Amino acid sequence: MCGEPAAALVGERLILSGWTARRRDHGGLVFVDLRDRTGVTQLVINPERSPGAAELAHAIRNEFVLRAEGELVARSPETVNAKMPTGEVELMVDSLEIVSRSTALPFQLDEENVDETLRLRYRWLDLRRDRLQRNIGLRAQMVGIIRRTMEEAGFLDIQTPILFKPTPEGARDFVVPSRLQPGRFYALPQSPQILKQLTMIAGFDRYYQIAICFRDEDLRADRVQEITQLDVEMSFPDQELLFGLMEEMYARIWRECLGIEIAAPFPRMTFTEADRRYGSDKPDTRFELELEDATEATRGSEFGVFAGAEAVRFLRAPRAFSRGELTKLEELAKEWGAKGLAYLVFDGGEIRSPIAKFLSETELAAFGGKDGETLLFAADAWPTTSRVLGALRLHLGRELGLIDESVFTFLWVEDFPMFERDDAESRWTAVHHPFTRPNADSEAGFGSDPGAALAHAYDLIVNGNELGGGSFRIHEPELQAKVFELLGMSEREQRSKFGFLLDALAMGAPPHGGIALGIDRMTMVLAGEPNLRDVIAFPKNQAGVDPMSGAPSDVTPGQLAELGIGIVEQPGP
Ligand code: ASP
Repeated sequence: MCGEPAAALVGERLILSGWTARRRDHGGLVFVDLRDRTGVTQLVINPERSPGAAELAHAIRNEFVLRAEGELVARSPETVNAKMPTGEVELMVDSLEIVSRSTALPFQLDEENVDETLRLRYRWLDLRRDRLQRNIGLRAQMVGIIRRTMEEAGFLDIQTPILFKPTPEGARDFVVPSRLQPGRFYALPQSPQILKQLTMIAGFDRYYQIAICFRDEDLRADRVQEITQLDVEMSFPDQELLFGLMEEMYARIWRECLGIEIAAPFPRMTFTEADRRYGSDKPDTRFELELEDATEATRGSEFGVFAGAEAVRFLRAPRAFSRGELTKLEELAKEWGAKGLAYLVFDGGEIRSPIAKFLSETELAAFGGKDGETLLFAADAWPTTSRVLGALRLHLGRELGLIDESVFTFLWVEDFPMFERDDAESRWTAVHHPFTRPNADSEAGFGSDPGAALAHAYDLIVNGNELGGGSFRIHEPELQAKVFELLGMSEREQRSKFGFLLDALAMGAPPHGGIALGIDRMTMVLAGEPNLRDVIAFPKNQAGVDPMSGAPSDVTPGQLAELGIGIVEQPGP
């Protein structure tokens, strides 16, 4: 392979095949950097040594595929390239073959900032770049470790169908028409959730799968429609065993892929604590800057906005911001849903703030601002203060350089609320999914006070990214029906959507629970890539289109007729 030649092999005859990364013509001598997945070796084509090869060499262009045979020689000391792993040697070519040619390239492989659509259109070229070769290689290495860890722990890889029925993970379904059952549709699974539960009821005890999940969502840099998950389920679940296994798996991945030792067991935090301290259910704990609560201290405030708000909370930024900086922060806070952003700047022994005159000595003493700090306040409903200050915290963490980029902080977040109120539709929805069981304390009373019920559910976070989550499941058919009912599902709807699950739960269902962890997101963190598409070999763009193949594409009228489907023309934009 092109990455292998080294000083120890000098004098050997080698055959190297690969792609032309670069060709340089130096009068008579021609140099070619020959590349494959493993690296680059320099070929030297000397017309005196090999006239035939020299003749051919002039025709070589970037990305031509070559096969070169010759002798590996040591480079003279002044031509050693310390930046190349193979830089001490070069191949003196005796015979050369152009195996395959390339048309002119739409972009050069070493070109920066190539338009993403162009990159995706010619993905086979894009994938030849170092960075993508590394990302895809890293992903494969990681999946290998995952499989080994799960197999060693006695988990069985069980495949579940892609053509299935709607599964409730809260996104829109992709549907597939059925030719054999005209007018009916499969849904692609948003996750194998129900199916993995059925493998437990079927007695398989420990299941895993590298599963593709299809969610028809609006796309962002960190979201795709086809996500790959490590999906796990176990019977008679033991949370310590499950958490311990995941921790061992991550420790192995980080050790083998990056040579980094991560600290395990991972710390744990309840959802309530995460929300209170970080304004987030996936806190980035690489830096402090925690939210502080001033609700009590401001109950009698003369500043009406504080006195009247459900919650008054603030961030203590270690910097005396200028007026201009504060205006920018306020604009951001408004984008995140705040009505405004009150502040106190402690600067040179003075307080700069339009609201300071309304605040009493006692209030100011309670906030405890120090010189060189700015206190940034949100006064609103509690969830709004969490959202605004949680986002502001991350922004300040980045802007003020508070984040230690060299560490990975893993964290379990537990005890999530079981239900969430959907005010627009005035109904309850499941925070995780409707098969999640209430925790032991909430089991008896969740029906009468759904908003207060906690779920036996957990998420795994790294550096503020949610890697995934899971829960212990309901295995009692009556309890499951009760949760369905609370979610507003009539008995008929329960039967038509989940009748098979209710039937299965009634035929000897063991207690079970599990987790699912996003492989794409995991690779992103591992590779330090900000864009999810750069860790996927063949991704679609933000509009769900594959610029390479043109998918999704039209089907023929014949195919539509066979499916009994007519297309309703949408009025143009
Ligand atoms: N099915 C869930 C998900 O995809 C994970 C789980 O509960 O195991 O998020």
